[in-house]
Amino acid sequence: MVVVAHADDAEFGCSGTVAQLIRKGWEVTYVLCTDGSKGSDDLDMTQEKLSAIRHDEQIAAGGILGLKAVEFLDYPDSFLEPSLDLRRDIARMIRKHKPEVLICNSPTRDLSNSTYIGHPDHMAAAEAALSAVYPTARDRLTYPELLEEGFEPHKVAEVWVMYGGDAANHVVELEEQDLEKSISALKAHFSQVPQETADRMREWKTRNGEAHGVGPAETYKLFKLG
Ligand SMILES: [Zn+2]
Repeated sequence: MVVVAHADDAEFGCSGTVAQLIRKGWEVTYVLCTDGSKGSDDLDMTQEKLSAIRHDEQIAAGGILGLKAVEFLDYPDSFLEPSLDLRRDIARMIRKHKPEVLICNSPTRDLSNSTYIGHPDHMAAAEAALSAVYPTARDRLTYPELLEEGFEPHKVAEVWVMYGGDAANHVVELEEQDLEKSISALKAHFSQVPQETADRMREWKTRNGEAHGVGPAETYKLFKLG
């Protein structure tokens, strides 16, 4: 299960890994926390129209990758907080889909990067996702309404936090077919991603892998949960 704030976050950060996992027989579900209603400079665009476009783009990207499901929580874009409601809603998805592995963004602002300060929604989604994994999804007595809805507790075995720094301890080297598929999936987000930006993914992931002595790669901070 991949939990992110926006349509396209997963395609930027982990879609090569997702393509590879699906190729190896895994089932992968995306959980999108926001409605994607803010990312446009087009003067004729409305929040409703943009949200509908971005839902369609994410479903198209999911089709390219072969996702099992895409779940939309539809919190307002750019106002996301790591609230107890969001934590419960992600825990519901964890209990529903019972993932072995949960992938999310980093919950902390990375100030070592000089070109990107990070989006607050990314941190909020990640914080809520980690809190949903532990302890909410596994604890029977938290949110009894989830039990009433039929969602039994579930323990996630591993969390992979998308992470490009030196402390990355899980390097997923991508084969060409995984990289190609991840670029195609990113290109499905027409409203957000210039096509040449998608093509530069190859350079970013190649640099990412070089730091670990491998080919193109996506890197994570992996936690094995007891
Ligand atoms: Zn985003």
